[in-house]
Amino acid sequence: SQGMIRDGKALLKKLEDAGHEAYFVGGYVRDSYLKRGIKDIDIATSALPEQVMELFDSCIPTGLHHGTVTVMIGSVGFEVTTFRKESEYEAHRRPSGVEFIRSLEEDLRRRDFTMNAMAMDRKGRIRDPFGGRKDLEQGILRCVGDPELRFREDALRMLRCIRFASHYDLEVEEATWSGLQGNIRLLQHVAMERVRAELERLVAGDHPYRGLRLIADSRLLRHTKVKLQLPWVHWTVQELPDALASIGGLPNPAHRWMLLAHLMSLSPQSAVEEGGKLTFSGKQIARMSRFLSFSQRLREQLDAMRELDPLSCALIWKENVVTIGSECAQDWLDVFGVVPAALPSTDNGGGRWTIFLERGRMWLQEMPVRKAADLALNGQQLAAHLKREPGPWLGRALMKLTLEAAAGHVPNNRKDLLVFAESLTREWKNDA
Ligand code: ATP
Ligand code: MG
Repeated sequence: SQGMIRDGKALLKKLEDAGHEAYFVGGYVRDSYLKRGIKDIDIATSALPEQVMELFDSCIPTGLHHGTVTVMIGSVGFEVTTFRKESEYEAHRRPSGVEFIRSLEEDLRRRDFTMNAMAMDRKGRIRDPFGGRKDLEQGILRCVGDPELRFREDALRMLRCIRFASHYDLEVEEATWSGLQGNIRLLQHVAMERVRAELERLVAGDHPYRGLRLIADSRLLRHTKVKLQLPWVHWTVQELPDALASIGGLPNPAHRWMLLAHLMSLSPQSAVEEGGKLTFSGKQIARMSRFLSFSQRLREQLDAMRELDPLSCALIWKENVVTIGSECAQDWLDVFGVVPAALPSTDNGGGRWTIFLERGRMWLQEMPVRKAADLALNGQQLAAHLKREPGPWLGRALMKLTLEAAAGHVPNNRKDLLVFAESLTREWKNDA
């Protein structure tokens, strides 16, 4: 990132040498003041977009009518935005028009929170007309201007407020919080994609539990554009499950969502429906619902077991890996290894999960095959060997072979698998 900062400074200098004003703004100023790592650098300038494009060889016209040009330096993009004012917000979300202006301070005034409304020149001098540094020192998140108005202008700011407060562990200033509370209904004007993106950043950020408490406290999620059928939406702060407090201990954001879904007792089917409303990707949704199926199956099988017997546990585990997938077994271990307190009590007493937590990883590793594709035999070969037309029987036979090979009951080589398959078909004929 040192290289990125150097390139950013050179970019500012070039704009200045051409007679324009130019500053670092937004997250970079905030995060460098807090001595945190930086992701990207935003720049504000008095130069008009056309003037920016003339000065730099490699530009992408990212959002010309908002005044934004992405200047590429090597493989790094810098968002360079002309000082602007936003006139009239449409439908509590996007400004209907922007007006390019000459004053940095006016540009900073349109920004959401004081800590996001600071600018820094290339010599490191900070311009901070709204007291962002002081608020940060005191651990306060505060709107620039009248909170009531700012949340009404753009309802997405309510989620940004909660995300910033949790990630930076800040107290939301009183008027800012009551401005938010007075406008929660306006969240219905925000596209679900934006809501999901903010929630994802919140869950992936530092102190996610704090964010989840603020979400609950605000009751914001009751007002999404597409109504969500999730216990999460109705949880009050007091109703948050205890184990949720450990969510920040999970390094992988996907696992944080899994813990949340599990603690909502979400079914695999509702995960598909609600995940769709939230516009999660098909891949994210599939992984989530497999995780939920895996833990649901494991629980049912454990409940059905009269006495805990390690051999049966290993078989159950391996069977679930074959039928549901090995990735979700891994996910299960990752989630509950860190937060075992989230595991439900089973019908035949607690403590039974321990065997899976302790041996699951080993069972997974010792499996010679985890899915049909791992078999040393494919469907074509099997059908040819048995001289039968491929049909539904073939999928069932392969599944059976996979289960047996996964459990180590038959070695994973073609010869043994074929012999085993012959005995299977004899069985089937006898059944018929
Ligand atoms: P991060 O990138 O770490 O999430 P950021 O502060 O850089 O934080 P961006 O969304 O990249 O956030 O926006 C850059 C800057 O643009 C913000 O710091 C803020 O000044 C301004 N900004 C972004 N979104 C809004 C908004 N909805 N309302 C007002 N100002 C905003
Ligand atoms: Mg940013």
